[in-house]
Amino acid sequence: MSKSLAIRLSKCETFVNPKNDLEQYPTDSNVAADLLWNAYMLGDIEGKRIADLGAGTGILSLGALLLGATEVVLVEKDPDALEIAQKNLKSESSWQAIQDDIENFTGSFDTVIENPPFGCQKKHADRPFLEKACQLAPIVYSLHSSESREFLQKRAQKEGFQITHTWKYDFPIKKSRSFHKRRIHRIPVIAVRLRKTF
Ligand code: SAH
Repeated sequence: MSKSLAIRLSKCETFVNPKNDLEQYPTDSNVAADLLWNAYMLGDIEGKRIADLGAGTGILSLGALLLGATEVVLVEKDPDALEIAQKNLKSESSWQAIQDDIENFTGSFDTVIENPPFGCQKKHADRPFLEKACQLAPIVYSLHSSESREFLQKRAQKEGFQITHTWKYDFPIKKSRSFHKRRIHRIPVIAVRLRKTF
């Protein structure tokens, strides 16, 4: 099942001119499908209201909608990315896109999904994403560089959340920048599921 989701997600259009300062790297379709399928099996997608922070071209949002989310809100500050997301989501209903910095976004959701900047350009660029996610929903799925494990543990605790699940992925990053030397570069990534504890 996650296989057919991966095939569908692999048809998504992606960033045309990815912006370095925003660390625009799309989630690989296999990783997106696997993580969302796990989230679905844990009861966090179907019938749920979901926020996708730093939604980019919308692959995680599309996957959530295909797995039966009631509503998905995409928050993304780059209008060019959102234009592509709109194309990727055109066959779906029950979603809205908000073009803004995640810092300004408020609301109440069942689940947050996010693949934020990993902080390669700006150290701990994922911190505001984690903080915001924990304010918005009692369940958070978040992707990070595997080096961030300790940081995640501490951060989750500080926000009153615990890590209930982790998944490890090798994230294929296709050559999309002049400073990338190899055609496909793999970086170890962890995905975490956080649950509010109080
Ligand atoms: N979630 C998408 C994109 C990942 S790349 C996917 O899984 O494919 C990270 C995204 O976060 C980029 O699209 C970038 O433009 C966006 N972003 C970075 N900082 C942001 C901020 N402060 N507010 C909103 N979006 C931001």
